Amino acid sequence: MPKAYTFKKEKDTHEIHIYEGNFTDTPTPCNSDPQSICKDPNKATSLNIPNAVCLNENEARQKASEIGRNVCGVCVSHLYTTYKKSSK
Ligand SMILES: [Zn+2]
Repeated sequence: MPKAYTFKKEKDTHEIHIYEGNFTDTPTPCNSDPQSICKDPNKATSLNIPNAVCLNENEARQKASEIGRNVCGVCVSHLYTTYKKSSK
């Protein structure tokens, strides 16, 4: 079962965190966990980022490199550790 990744921006710090979830059929293409991968921010105070919702792992990695350093390093590294543990 592939994971769905959603990027959200924290209102206060403007730091972007990644939320893991599962693809669903209805009513939205995916859900997301109440906490980000790094367990830091609260989803309630975070904003969706356009075109960064319900991405697959590959798309999430691309999006993370597109956004750059505003993305939380803990969340980003998770994308790579789940993909290929031996690559880094
Ligand atoms: Zn994070």
